[in-house]
Amino acid sequence: MSDAAARRRAIDSVTSYTPPAVGDGPQEAPGDLFGRNVFSQSVMKARLPKAVYKSVMATIEHGERLDPEVADVVATAMKDWAIERGASHYAHVFYPLTGLTAEKHDSFLEPDGTGASIAEFAGKTLVQGEPDASSFPNGGLRQTFEARGYTGWDVTSPAYVMETPTGSTLCIPTVFISWTGEALDKKTPILRSQQALAKQAQRVLRLFGHENPGSVSSFAGAEQEYFLIDRHFYFSRPDLVSAGRTLFGAPSPKGQEFDDHYFGAIPERVLAFMLETERELFKLGIPAKTRHNEVAPGQFEIAPVFEKANLATDHQQLLMVTLRRVAEKYGMECLLHEKPFAGVNGSGKHVNFSIGSTTAGNLLDPGHTPHDNAQFLVFCAAVIRAVHRYGGLLRAVVASSRNDHRLGANEAPPAIISIFLGEQLMDVFDQIAKGGATQSKEKGTLIVGVDTIPDLPSDPGDRNRTSPFAFTGNRFEFRAPGSSQSIAGPLTALNTAIAESLDFIATELEEAVGAGTDFNAAVQIVLQGIIADHGNVIFNGDGYGEEWQVEAEARGLLNLRTTVDALPQFDTPEVKELFATYEVLNDRELASRYEVYLEQYVLSLAVEAKQTLEMAKTLILPAGLRYQGELAGQGANLKAVGMDFDSSLLDEVSGLVADLRSGIAALEAGIAGAHGAESTLDEARYACDTFLPAMATVREAADGLEHVVADDLWPLPTYQEMLFVL
Ligand code: ADP
Ligand code: MG
Repeated sequence: MSDAAARRRAIDSVTSYTPPAVGDGPQEAPGDLFGRNVFSQSVMKARLPKAVYKSVMATIEHGERLDPEVADVVATAMKDWAIERGASHYAHVFYPLTGLTAEKHDSFLEPDGTGASIAEFAGKTLVQGEPDASSFPNGGLRQTFEARGYTGWDVTSPAYVMETPTGSTLCIPTVFISWTGEALDKKTPILRSQQALAKQAQRVLRLFGHENPGSVSSFAGAEQEYFLIDRHFYFSRPDLVSAGRTLFGAPSPKGQEFDDHYFGAIPERVLAFMLETERELFKLGIPAKTRHNEVAPGQFEIAPVFEKANLATDHQQLLMVTLRRVAEKYGMECLLHEKPFAGVNGSGKHVNFSIGSTTAGNLLDPGHTPHDNAQFLVFCAAVIRAVHRYGGLLRAVVASSRNDHRLGANEAPPAIISIFLGEQLMDVFDQIAKGGATQSKEKGTLIVGVDTIPDLPSDPGDRNRTSPFAFTGNRFEFRAPGSSQSIAGPLTALNTAIAESLDFIATELEEAVGAGTDFNAAVQIVLQGIIADHGNVIFNGDGYGEEWQVEAEARGLLNLRTTVDALPQFDTPEVKELFATYEVLNDRELASRYEVYLEQYVLSLAVEAKQTLEMAKTLILPAGLRYQGELAGQGANLKAVGMDFDSSLLDEVSGLVADLRSGIAALEAGIAGAHGAESTLDEARYACDTFLPAMATVREAADGLEHVVADDLWPLPTYQEMLFVL
């Protein structure tokens, strides 16, 4: 219900809110909680016969095929462990293209014919499931009559028990594929891309003399930003409920201009929420670490410690679910939308990225010896080359209607994908480039460029927050991903693009060394070539400035402003070839993703347009009309008793009401015209070019009214209430 009285009640409820009592007993130490609900490697070691444990570990660590007999033993141990923890059901958890998390629940209990029940959970039940998949988006990959989709156990991501107030469930992370084996989900490609990256990184490491390069993986740590608002306000805002963001709302007199929220004191209720969220995450084996207020009022951040990319991705999904669930318990709604409030900073998800080997360590860490330096520079150059060649793809994997409000809005990185290296590292690459110009090995300058890098501080002071892709001492930070999105897409794209660069580098080095070139000299030549061809993507300046837009264009960098501009990157020959070559996504799988993401864009804009229309017509226009009537009545009354009436306010309100009406008419026409597009891309373009400007016009008039209409007539919680009353 949305009226002024509901607004008052909401404020009263917020101010009189008392958080749920924390248990009287002593709180368990985080160390005791950590991983308690996870069927972890140590649990397996304790519960599985030695040979079975070894076999599972070979699958987890070296990707060896899982023996069905082993699966049977693991399944039984897993079931017993889960039942001891109170689980009555098990669920295959999968990650469909919606970016959300899906679960298919089944009971452990099956009637045994005698009226009693037995717990049934065989290896085949663990390894494979068959959810009715027809309602998940597949972008034409599967006809609806082929509803079958299969889930398959991902051995690399540990199963866990999820406690909810109504019971506990054993959750098994799985891939989700069609009956042809094609990926319908976000997990399958990231696993494939991890393999591709590992293979190429190992080739390069062998060239650097690591006879056993160990297993190689990319690692990710994602900083999650979010807003908290009281649920009373949330439910009084139909736009937040249906679209996740406010479609209306005038800026509050005090916004974020003082930046006084940033790292300020955390409200007590929020602190209680944070502590409980961390406890819940710890139980699930998710190492959540930092917490502080973000720039905007009501905005916060949580960052788990980095893990292998595929595991970090699963944990990120669990983290989002946990944030929302715990917030609810404390009477709040956790808003994960990229831009819930206009004029207030949006939320991103900075993905910190590195590549590591079990024997060679973090390959993006400069290290201390010349040898490490050269190896580091090669991996760093691989990233630079990848980001330059596939910048369009990296833009496409963060594209959504939600993130469009953030990227390029001078609070988040621009839509242009560039790399920030920092002064010191930039200088090193400059030296390498120059060394190439002299080509004089005798003078010793050629190799020197590679061999002598000053120790780079692991936490450089010169952080550039305006860059979408920044080197931060021993990792890169991809800042363009949006707060609500799965990090699977960005990580899959990064893994694969870097695999391609490492493949290129390994091939060049192998050939040069084969032809008798000294290894160090060959490295130097490859690095010089990469800087010459791809150095254009490096930009250490202000990404928010107008000049950068101009300069980036001159450099030939893409500036894909909207989702509609960005998504067609999935349809380019280079991107198709990239994913096909490294067997991450075949053409059909890639095309289906392109289609699904376009559909999602069209659907979300259609919902927003209809929601805007409905709120404008049924909430805001009536408030405007009532106030107009009140003022007109007052004017008539004053005139009747012979007094002057200053009509300026009435004129202003009448003008805004007229604007609102014509805005509504235009939006209605726009929505009615949204038929008959030839392709989903055309539909998306129509929605972008027609709905968004029409919605903006309606909003302008509505927000104008909010500034003048009597407060007791205003039907929606205001920005001030939502952001500051917590
Ligand atoms: P900041 O706000 O300064 O960028 P935070 O401490 O908030 O940093 O978050 C840093 C994130 O980066 C954490 O998730 C952390 O685990 C992750 N991280 C640290 N080192 C690495 C690494 N080598 N590879 C990947 N992620 C890393
Ligand atoms: Mg950060």
